[in-house]
Amino acid sequence: MIKLLKNANLFAPSAYGIVDILIADSKIAHIGSNIDMSSNQVEVIDLEGRTVIPGLVDTLAHVTGGGGESGFGSRTPAITPDQIIASGVTSLVGALGTDSVTRSLQDLYGKTQELRSAGLNAYMHSGSYHYPAKTLTSSVQEDLMMIEPVIGVGEIAISDHRGSHPTSNQLAHLASDVKVGAMIAGKQGVVSVHVGDAPQGIDPLFHAIHDYALNPSVFYPTHISRNNELLEQGKQFTKIGGYIDITTSTNEGIIAQGEMPPADAVCHLLDSDVDNTKITLSSDAQGSLPNYNKKNELIGLDIGAIDSLYSTMCALIEGKQIDPSMAIRLVTENPAKAVGINAGSLFAGASADLVVLDSWSCIDSVMSNGQWLMRQKNFCFNTPFEDSLND
Ligand code: ZN
Repeated sequence: MIKLLKNANLFAPSAYGIVDILIADSKIAHIGSNIDMSSNQVEVIDLEGRTVIPGLVDTLAHVTGGGGESGFGSRTPAITPDQIIASGVTSLVGALGTDSVTRSLQDLYGKTQELRSAGLNAYMHSGSYHYPAKTLTSSVQEDLMMIEPVIGVGEIAISDHRGSHPTSNQLAHLASDVKVGAMIAGKQGVVSVHVGDAPQGIDPLFHAIHDYALNPSVFYPTHISRNNELLEQGKQFTKIGGYIDITTSTNEGIIAQGEMPPADAVCHLLDSDVDNTKITLSSDAQGSLPNYNKKNELIGLDIGAIDSLYSTMCALIEGKQIDPSMAIRLVTENPAKAVGINAGSLFAGASADLVVLDSWSCIDSVMSNGQWLMRQKNFCFNTPFEDSLND
């Protein structure tokens, strides 16, 4: 099926102004001014100047649910396709977290395939917080090579009491295992790294990179705005060529503990002359967020929300007056490059993964691989449970 989107105000993420977008099957065939297709085989949709951006890329979502850190009652639920689609996300990477005993990679694989059936571009990591990494086959290398949706390992925890405290030697071993498996499978390969609040921060990554002559981009540390010291280390990490990731799910309790709010952290990094192509945002969706009162007492838990990714992008554009192309890049092109998936930018030949906006804060429609998953705020993704659509 051929679709022609007329009069789109395109941020690809670079600003194009008003253009027409021709979509053939799952790909963008052409972007240009005044494309004329009169065949009745073409579905022509006049967007009347509405903004079009690439579908968002979320490189860390606990899609099968996470949490469990305050007993089994604190396990968080799995995400649903409509939650992802309503947030403008069309590509995402699922991962396990603290619990890799009652949560399994087999379940994560099934969830990844479920989300693909709904029309989303879903990927997954092997492993969890734990070292040695849990795997689906006999090794991380084999998971990368034999299981197509697996694009890396993680989130391996460092500097965190919930992790296994891997040494720089063990981190280097893991990185090489990922890289060799990815090389043979034609993938980029990445080690997603959960960084806790212990004072050494990402020092273990610097040591592994230095001692074993690794390319810094193999490690992709997240939660980098957890405290000011870690954010400073993050700046140094970008200077040697690594990507750093800021978590958009947060709450007042975590901020009171020292985390910088995500939009503030981005502005701080941009003001610090950090290479802006190395900054990414991810949601940490379905992770559990502890909430503390002013006496630092745990008073409850929140659940990480995938829509925090989009709302942080809007906060940057509308609240912080960041150039829209810049803000969009942090949730599209940059994260796609950090994990090595073909997504996050719109050009002739790219997958037709895009979001149509009524205004910055209002998503109208979402398309993935040339198919509408949400059209004019009505879900239309592929599901055998049709009663779950727009009920
Ligand atoms: Zn984490």
